Amino acid sequence: MGLHEVSDAPTLTREALTARIDELPRVRLAHLPTPLDFCPRLSEALGGPKIYIKRDDLTGLAFGGNKTRLLEFLFAEIAANGADTVVAGAYTQSNWCRQITAAACKLGLETALVLVAGVKGPARQGNLLLDLTMGADVTVIDGHDMQNLAPDLRAKAARLEAAGRKPYVIAPFDTATQAIAGVGYVAAMVELDRQLADDGIVADYIYLSAANTTPAGLAVGARALGRAIEVVGITPIHWDEDRPTDIARIAEAIAARLDLNLRFTAADIVNDDGYVGERYGVVTPAGLTALKLVARTEGIILDPIYTAKAMAGLIDHIRQGRIGRRETVVFVHTGGTPALFAYADDLELG
Ligand SMILES: *Cc1c(COP(=O)(O)O)cnc(C)c1O
Repeated sequence: MGLHEVSDAPTLTREALTARIDELPRVRLAHLPTPLDFCPRLSEALGGPKIYIKRDDLTGLAFGGNKTRLLEFLFAEIAANGADTVVAGAYTQSNWCRQITAAACKLGLETALVLVAGVKGPARQGNLLLDLTMGADVTVIDGHDMQNLAPDLRAKAARLEAAGRKPYVIAPFDTATQAIAGVGYVAAMVELDRQLADDGIVADYIYLSAANTTPAGLAVGARALGRAIEVVGITPIHWDEDRPTDIARIAEAIAARLDLNLRFTAADIVNDDGYVGERYGVVTPAGLTALKLVARTEGIILDPIYTAKAMAGLIDHIRQGRIGRRETVVFVHTGGTPALFAYADDLELG
């Protein structure tokens, strides 16, 4: 057993949980398993806990990232739907939209993106550069709020339909969609659990940049396997609804999809909103320090918007003594690295 066991919950073995997951439609997009790297120089620099990085930045699809695991299950639905064009939206530096475009290319579908200018606007760098390189039909709209994009996506789909296409709108922040996609991170939890067991590692915490689906999938996986590992999410964004409530609801929906009778409330979800800084998409001094520290101790590149802020949270939690010197942390590197290039002028490299 790789992680602590919780004795009072009915649990599944890795094999039994994998069998449940394997019943669901899936297309293969990711290079799996991703590596689990021990980071001795980073661990030493932070003065204590052993830190491993789960390299989900290496899922392999157009520079990788966590979304690729989610899309393996979502694109199976899209393919079954008979669509020829995927419609999606977020910010111009969206990792989600970049990985959607790549998956669509791989599966022979077209992509139409509605992207909110956000902090980096229409600059052809990072993720937006990759979207255009992969041939996405991109519309950039002004503003800083992507929480109400659904009408724009529906309007885009209506125009495509009128032109004779069969669009599939990936509904943003829709629980049913998140339930399908989130199975990808239940599978990731099984994969990580196996790696820990194989390497004889007992991990106390998983840290990650966490907004909604990814931490929900990990929470379901850990609970289903009966592991007491604590999943600590650091949010990259301030949201109308508090993160634990939303993540708990998504976790229950993912569990239901796997026929697991698991209940989650906000009290089951740990999510720290203390490291967003000014707002989503704007770098923070602590994030830049974290990004440079990981780059300079381990040669691993974080992104400025998600993983750097999550690492800043982990570093601060270590400093506060929330994590013991002899404990072990797995930091899930959720990707986002192409955005680094769009943020060249913000990195304070002298
Ligand atoms: C999207 C994203 C996240 C957050 O994933 P959720 O499933 O929304 O929690 C974290 N890190 C990176 C790099 C991302 O692109």
